[in-house]
Amino acid sequence: MSKITRLFILILFSLLTLPVFSEDIPEDVSVVYFSKEISAKSILKIYQKIKGNVKGEKIGIKVHFGEDGNQTFLNPELIEPLTKQLNATLVETNVLYGGKRKTTDSHIKLAKEHGFTFAPIDILDSEGETTYKAKEKLKYFSEVKVGTHLDKYDTIIIYSHFKGHGSAGFGGAIKNVSMGFAPASGKLQMNTAFVPNYDPEKCIECGLCLLDCPENAISIKPVVVDTKKCIGCGSCISFCPAKVFTVPDKNERHSIFLEKLVEYAKVIQENKNMVYINVLANITAYCDCMKMTDKPFLPDIGILASTDIVAIEKASHDLVNKECKCDDAFLKENQVSGYRQIEYAAELKMGNIKYKLVDIDKD
Ligand code: SF4
Ligand code: SF4
Repeated sequence: MSKITRLFILILFSLLTLPVFSEDIPEDVSVVYFSKEISAKSILKIYQKIKGNVKGEKIGIKVHFGEDGNQTFLNPELIEPLTKQLNATLVETNVLYGGKRKTTDSHIKLAKEHGFTFAPIDILDSEGETTYKAKEKLKYFSEVKVGTHLDKYDTIIIYSHFKGHGSAGFGGAIKNVSMGFAPASGKLQMNTAFVPNYDPEKCIECGLCLLDCPENAISIKPVVVDTKKCIGCGSCISFCPAKVFTVPDKNERHSIFLEKLVEYAKVIQENKNMVYINVLANITAYCDCMKMTDKPFLPDIGILASTDIVAIEKASHDLVNKECKCDDAFLKENQVSGYRQIEYAAELKMGNIKYKLVDIDKD
């Protein structure tokens, strides 16, 4: 037997004797843990499955305290034992619109009135905002704005109430990260900004846009809007005498809004270690920002946890649809689909859209 043949047999033997892990999960599949039991005990148990990804000493738990008058936000008792066990801080940011959650003092007061009295509360943008840079150029953002206090935390547990939302279709982990960490100015960038459509053929070369666009985002001959500079203020739609600029249609604007949410979440994910817990209880058509108590349109489903933001959102969406016996429960209930959030997050490689659901109640 020649040396080469002996070497070949040796390599082949080594390969054949390598351990085979029949339970191995392919790289493009992420594990999402599930428990039907919605309780503090169940949250503690499911956390054990993802705690390997929780790094450092300083842990924040991103919660939503519920708007004044709302009663369908997640019961604080659910998260109390885990918060105490981790010596964690409850974190949030102030909202863009009016109400008690707009300013730090009244926000914290409302949180306490709603039962969040068992841990320190940190309003992340109470002392200003900072920017996180994107690792690669995105469609809308090269950097995002977050509350300065976010820098203080090694890991954030994104604890989300998965339910409907009037403009995003649904609110889960992606929205809890994007809107949840942005100061008012960042929220505004996501909420109102949209790049106008334009027809260069109509331009009469008056030059007004070169003077009036606040971001110098427009060039002419031919007309081009620099999407990286445009803040979507919409001024050009009114000042252009030749009606070159128009509002994108409703569906297009909706899709842009969802994609902006996702891009914010992606840049934050690149800069901050996070793990995710979604609670599928009190599944209402509208969110906990509503100053009213909406009636759930589905029965409670359970708790999910994962280290993958795309997988947990897809699994949550699938479970809601299964309960609804429909393709898109939120589209059916509030006429707004949020699915583009999941689809675009997968396109941006924020995680795997394929998942394996592991039922921890069988442990
Ligand atoms: S304001 Fe309108 S018409 Fe005037 S240069 Fe700009 S795009 Fe053309
Ligand atoms: S929407 Fe505002 S920022 Fe964007 S191109 Fe028009 S005027 Fe400029």
